[in-house]
Amino acid sequence: MDSECLFCKIVSGDIPSTPVLDREAVYAFRDIHPSAPVHVLVVPKRHVADVRSIEIEHGALLVEMIDAAREVALAEGVGESGYRLIFNIGPDAGQTVFHLHLHVVGGAPMGPVARL
Ligand code: AMP
Ligand code: ZN
Repeated sequence: MDSECLFCKIVSGDIPSTPVLDREAVYAFRDIHPSAPVHVLVVPKRHVADVRSIEIEHGALLVEMIDAAREVALAEGVGESGYRLIFNIGPDAGQTVFHLHLHVVGGAPMGPVARL
């Protein structure tokens, strides 16, 4: 737990969120500024700064996040229509929160991934 971290506070319940999925190691909640009809964030409960700090030992956690994202997508009704899984990394990608999080985005057809 990083006491300065927004998503650690969301995991602990100190800051409210709208839960979508709650597992032992990962938590999923609705993005406060959704960019699509379905926009859910999947985070590890333990603090991991971001994708750049991922090491081999985090492998099982990453698989758990992707599995949770699939369950979220099915529960949100986009499991078949399709969805995007996004890690924003660094300023050009628009990363604003430095606690690892996977965006699950869907519910409408999307354009090319990286249109500038
Ligand atoms: P990123 O830009 O990849 O760092 O994503 C951070 C995401 O967190 C953004 O999409 C924000 O809308 C979202 N966000 C920020 N604060 C909250 C909050 N309190 N509850 C839910 N989502 C949030
Ligand atoms: Zn954190």
